[in-house]
Amino acid sequence: MSIHPDALAVVRDTAPDEPVILNRPHAARRAARFFVDKFPGKVLYAVKANPSADLLRVLWDGGVTHYDVASIAEVRLVRETLPEATLCFMHPVKTARAIEEAYFQHGCKTFSLDSIEELEKIRAATKDAKDLRLCVRLRVSSEYSELSLASKFGAELADAPALLQATRQVADWLGVCFHVGSQAMTPFAYVQALERVRAAIAEAAVLIDMIDVGGGFPSIYPGMEPPPLDDYFAIIHRHFYALPIAYNAELWCEPGRALCAEYNSMIVRVEKRRGNELYINDGSYGALFDAAHIGWRFPVRQVAEPVEGAEMADFAFYGPTCDDADFMEGPFNLPAGIDAGDYIEIGMLGAYGAAMRTGFNGFGTGPVETVSDEPMASLYRGDRTDPRVSDNVVSLR
Ligand SMILES: *Cc1c(COP(=O)(O)O)cnc(C)c1O
Repeated sequence: MSIHPDALAVVRDTAPDEPVILNRPHAARRAARFFVDKFPGKVLYAVKANPSADLLRVLWDGGVTHYDVASIAEVRLVRETLPEATLCFMHPVKTARAIEEAYFQHGCKTFSLDSIEELEKIRAATKDAKDLRLCVRLRVSSEYSELSLASKFGAELADAPALLQATRQVADWLGVCFHVGSQAMTPFAYVQALERVRAAIAEAAVLIDMIDVGGGFPSIYPGMEPPPLDDYFAIIHRHFYALPIAYNAELWCEPGRALCAEYNSMIVRVEKRRGNELYINDGSYGALFDAAHIGWRFPVRQVAEPVEGAEMADFAFYGPTCDDADFMEGPFNLPAGIDAGDYIEIGMLGAYGAAMRTGFNGFGTGPVETVSDEPMASLYRGDRTDPRVSDNVVSLR
């Protein structure tokens, strides 16, 4: 496999007709090392954010040994790719067959649940196994996150004590988990969630072996510059220690986005220009689902030799399918003279970008290349100015 220096080299070598996904293994490895070294507990990778087998191997080499899987296909994928990995099935609504296969064929002992029905299902599907590690998912607020995960899963505080007590009867090892929503822009998101955990376990009066603070750790995008991850880790650690839990209780986290956002970017080509709208060859059914559906602003740059003092302008994008909804409002700031035939690199697509591509309308395929340059933004490079002391940063809501 050849490694290109950057997107410009790929365009020069191949003049690609289709969108090209670029992998940056060094960036994913750096993110893994950062979490493994600095998070004061165990780090699980949430596979759904980007299930690429190459990425799984990079994270494994970076020290991530536990994987949060949510479907039987993810269970099989991780087991095939990383035979030694510890699998944790953290979807609170699973099929009985998926539980059975995960437990008996793939050695998965950790499952999450948010209802008595799911507890019964796990018990039956594992034939009353005595070595289950069960995590009760609590519903917490998503008010500090850009993407809510609050309404679908999680036991209500009123039901949590009874569910914790019932699960304690079945589980060899009992955890509490939650998810504050994706791209949590302040560590306070975890404080309010851990306060809820405290209320639930105080009321249940059961021994808790593990607290899993879930995902939600942010990456960095235009207009979304979070505080340093060290702040998140420090606050989580402090509030974890203040909980009424077993003295040897473990702390876990399940980042998806923060571990893989920097792993991918994508080269697209402008096929047509209409005013300040650019028709590009990837879109809402490709890697740009979030750009279209929730107005996520990914960083962009033209793939060309930089021109000193070039005038810039704001553009919107149309994707390649025939659907009007295949539209990305942006704004995306690019050289004002950009036109059909020019190439654009769209950055920070490693999380919920490359993983979201569909084959709708015959698009969605294309080559994958590896590059060695830096991602367009990084939380891990160490040269980032601290946004708390910078004066040109969007407020943190
Ligand atoms: C999606 C998900 C994650 C990862 O969330 P990020 O916001 O990408 O960090 C972690 N845990 C669970 C249970 C999830 O559903």
